Amino acid sequence: MGGHPSHQPAAGRHYAAALFFGAWGLATIAHAGCFDVQAPEYRELRPLVAQDPQSALAEVSARIAALPPDAAAQEPRTVAALYAVRARAYGQMTLTHPERTAALAGLALLHDPTEPLRLELLSSYGDSFSSAAEVTSALTQIKQARALVRPGSRSDVCLQIREGFMNLLRDRVSPGIREFTKAYMLSGASELPEARVAASIGLAVALRYMGDGREALSLIDRQIRWNRAHHETDDLSGGIYFRGEILRSIGHYHQAIAAFKQSRAMSVAVGDLQSTGYTDLRMCEAEISLRHLSAARRACNRAAPVLAAGHVTAMIKETRVQFAKIDLAEGHPAHAVKILDQVLHDHGADMIAFTIAPAYFARAEANAALHRYAAAYRDLSTYLRMYKARNRINQARLRTALEVRFQAKQEFERNAILRRKLQAAAHRATKQLQLLDWMKAAGVAGALAIALLSYILVADRRHRRQLVVLANEDPLTRLPNRGRTAQLATEALAAACAQSRPLTVALIDFDYFKTINDQCGHAAGDHVLKEFAQLSRGALRTGDIFGRWGGEEFLLVLPDAALDSALASVERLRLLALGIQIPCPEGRTEGLRVTFSAGLASTADGLRTLDEIVARADIALYEAKDAGRDGVRISRAHAEQTSEPLRA
Ligand code: GH3
Ligand code: MG
Ligand code: MG
Repeated sequence: MGGHPSHQPAAGRHYAAALFFGAWGLATIAHAGCFDVQAPEYRELRPLVAQDPQSALAEVSARIAALPPDAAAQEPRTVAALYAVRARAYGQMTLTHPERTAALAGLALLHDPTEPLRLELLSSYGDSFSSAAEVTSALTQIKQARALVRPGSRSDVCLQIREGFMNLLRDRVSPGIREFTKAYMLSGASELPEARVAASIGLAVALRYMGDGREALSLIDRQIRWNRAHHETDDLSGGIYFRGEILRSIGHYHQAIAAFKQSRAMSVAVGDLQSTGYTDLRMCEAEISLRHLSAARRACNRAAPVLAAGHVTAMIKETRVQFAKIDLAEGHPAHAVKILDQVLHDHGADMIAFTIAPAYFARAEANAALHRYAAAYRDLSTYLRMYKARNRINQARLRTALEVRFQAKQEFERNAILRRKLQAAAHRATKQLQLLDWMKAAGVAGALAIALLSYILVADRRHRRQLVVLANEDPLTRLPNRGRTAQLATEALAAACAQSRPLTVALIDFDYFKTINDQCGHAAGDHVLKEFAQLSRGALRTGDIFGRWGGEEFLLVLPDAALDSALASVERLRLLALGIQIPCPEGRTEGLRVTFSAGLASTADGLRTLDEIVARADIALYEAKDAGRDGVRISRAHAEQTSEPLRA
């Protein structure tokens, strides 16, 4: 991604490494824009690699074949430059093995550790791993190279970004984030737009990894805009792919699939078969989440042969994990276990760290379906141990769902010891998650979030606990704040779905609240909010979740409540609100009353994610506002049942 494509080559797509983790783009930065490679052969052929890797490969292979026998000794730089081009061309086609071979051949010819051409070859080497051990070996070399280049130089930033990614690949999140943060700051200071974009991607990956999809999305959108503006089609398709990955990780599966389709079409257009394989695999995963099993199988069936041809063991295994999940969902747990036993036969040693845990999770589910609870427990413990180390909020949701399912099983109920152990394990994992809640709740943007992130990672435990308390509570009303409310609601929703029990959500927004502020002062508005919070909390069941969703908006989650009983609860709150006295200067209370409008949505509509359900409630809320306020509306699918808003 080096500047404008007309005079600088677009960097080679490095889907093998990059798409694999949703981390592409990094690869690109470390190439054209990064190292100032002077070798004429490289400068001449590199643009062709980006445009047409097949032809570039044919050309470079012809030139290598035509070299005199002593070329390596006489002109090591020329030969190494040809290998660098060859490595990039294979990289562009995501053919990992030949890419690695070419990179190693080139590296063997160069001995100055800081030479740009050598760094370029090292990048290829770093990208072309197919196992965890290869990542480790590349990381060691990159660290050695970094120790020798000038700190803060372009090469340094580029290598640093790569180092960050390699750390992530090895599941070392905090060093990874530290590297990205530093690179992000350095690249900002030294006018390296490409490096900055790549560092943004790095941070986006890390943030997603930490469970903060929203922030990750905003970073990646910035990168997509940049690539669009600079016509970097390759990186654009990578960026869109990653956007899909983030959307998938926060549960927006339909949008994710749309992004994958868009990215896939771009890969097809440039004949990048391997990238389509990765995209199909992710699409397969997203379809599984939507329980579109036949679509999932089709996507995985497309991905499997392509990935097999690419020889990236870890990816091939990941595909098999997806097949196992499909088998399980289709009611063939024994077959799923068989696949997963093969995938995990060496504890997933040839897989990338963070893809192993989901495989254990899937096997735990499959074993549970076969009533093999001891085996399921073992797998779940392994999963939780890995999970704890990684702090991924996404899996926590799944974990909750699994626990609920476990608890629902009669056989399991009888086994009290196992259950206690399971609860203890789950409790430990939950504690780990609170850190993330804080970050989500803080909802701070951009660089600030990043700085906080780094800070939290190093803050001592006690301090963290305080932060967690502060972070979960809204200071004005003492209710759970938005982040905490969302977390509690997500858990309640997962439990309701798993047990097929109803759950209703009400979104409450005060009417003409600005008028109260304007006429009586902000303190009066605050008082109303506080009173309302306190009164309402006392009027709800212990299992109900009631939190401050935003300014004068509240979210009420009613587990086990169908619409009629939910309406009754909201009506209780409405009466309580009406009774609140507004502390207002003499003569200004004219016509002022505390009323609210509310929108209701429930799982009875087939809504399964919090985002979906809140979005529906929001629409209903606006209908209530439109209808004149001081009323309750129910999401449209129920409209025929209760179309009259409750009115005072
Ligand atoms: P509507 O009926 O359309 O909802 O009218 P509204 O005036 O309530 O409009 P809206 O919901 O858009 O605006 C909410 C207002 O609530 C804006 C803001 O001044 C006020 N508000 C939000 N948070 C607080 C708070 O913590 N304290 C006080 N006093 N006011 C707040
Ligand atoms: Mg409002
Ligand atoms: Mg309002």
